[in-house]
This record gives sequence, structure tokens and C-alpha cells, in this order.
Amino acid sequence: MGSSRISSLQQRLIMQSIPDAALAPEPDSPPSTEQAKPGALLDYVSSSRLPTPWAVFEIHVFVERSNQKEHVLLTLGDVADGQPVLARVHSECLTGDALFSLRCDCGPQLQLALERIAKEGRGALMYLRQEGRGIGLLNKIRAYHLQDQGADTVEANEQLGFPADMRRYDICKDMLEHAGIQKLRLMTNNPRKVKTLQEIGIDVVERVPHQIEGNPFNAGYLNTKRLRLGHWLETDE
Ligand SMILES: [Zn+2]
Repeated sequence: MGSSRISSLQQRLIMQSIPDAALAPEPDSPPSTEQAKPGALLDYVSSSRLPTPWAVFEIHVFVERSNQKEHVLLTLGDVADGQPVLARVHSECLTGDALFSLRCDCGPQLQLALERIAKEGRGALMYLRQEGRGIGLLNKIRAYHLQDQGADTVEANEQLGFPADMRRYDICKDMLEHAGIQKLRLMTNNPRKVKTLQEIGIDVVERVPHQIEGNPFNAGYLNTKRLRLGHWLETDE
């Protein structure tokens, strides 16, 4: 169940100490902004080490030119060697990623992706700031309000006048180019994501199933994703 998974993760967060060496700055590393290479949609700003309970990742930050949104790429290991890279494209979900919401599966999916990349010792995670499938936090909570009254996740978006999914993935291309990543082994259950990435010229050579266990609060949501958004999810029903 989701709850036991979270408690074991929390336990690991407490139990696992991060070596001091991992937190020390690298005196020799040049200012990353010197390597800035402008892409079509994003401007690269800087990079640094980012210790997590699973691995010490490299965090790279970008600004989207059209709206000044800040986006993140985490990498681990040598991702620029031309070999396929285990990768996750994750859209921001404040309630799920940071506030432990059980209404969706975003938080556990994010954690699982980092765990799997760490286990492999190599990979990339693109963290895109498009909250609530692109409708923003305020509208997402308005949609939750409608769902509390009986609408499903797709109906709620439609009642608010939004398409079921407004996410876009074109900014990934700039991130991948910046990091020298050529081919992806993509962790996802979302066929639209694979199709969209391929359409914009990103080479997804493998789809890696990325399913987490449901919980009593998100069973309906996961079922809607499967039935109405065509996600590859197996259910217990
Ligand atoms: Zn979520």
C-alpha cells in the first residue's frame, strides 16, 4: 500500500546520513553559467550537486523564455556517452510531490524514478513546472473541489473549461540537448507522452513501465487515467 511505502521512505530519510564529502563544494568547478548554451525555448542558468537519500544528483536549472518559468533537470552519471539513458519526464505536482497527497500517484512516481536512476547509477529526470496537467495549482484545487462533489478528473477539467491534459513536452528537447542525451529509456505509463516526445524528435528507444501501488484515495483517479486518458495501467478491479 502507498502508506507503508511512504513510511519506509521516511524511515530511510531519517536513517540514511549523507556523507559530508558529498555536501562539500567543489572548489575547482568553474561557474556553470560560462557553459550556457541557449536553446530554442529555454535558457540554461546553472548547475550544482544535489544530494538526495538515493544518490548525489547533478541539478541543472533553466528558465523558459516565454513565461520565465523555472525548470529542472537532474542527471546522474555519464549521460552524454550516446547510450540510451533511463529517464523520467515529471510534471510538477505540489500536492503530490511535496505535500504527500494520496489523491494522485505523482509523489511515489517521482521517488521511484529517483530510486531507479540511483540503482542504475545513471539517468535523468526532467522536472517540468506545469502543475495540474498544465492548468496550475489554483485550478487544480478547483478541479479537486468538483471531484469532491462527484466529477472525475477529466470531467472536472472540462467543467472548468480546460482540456483533460494541457501539458507540453517541447522544452525537454532543450534540456536533453544541453546534457548531451541522445536516447531515452522512458519510465512512464502514459502513451501520449511517448508519442509526443517522439513527434518532437526525441528518440525514445524503450518504454519502461512505471507503475506504483494504488491506495484507497487514488483508486478512482488511476482508473480514470486508465479508462479515459489511455494510460497503461493494470488495476486490481
Ligand atoms: Zn499529482
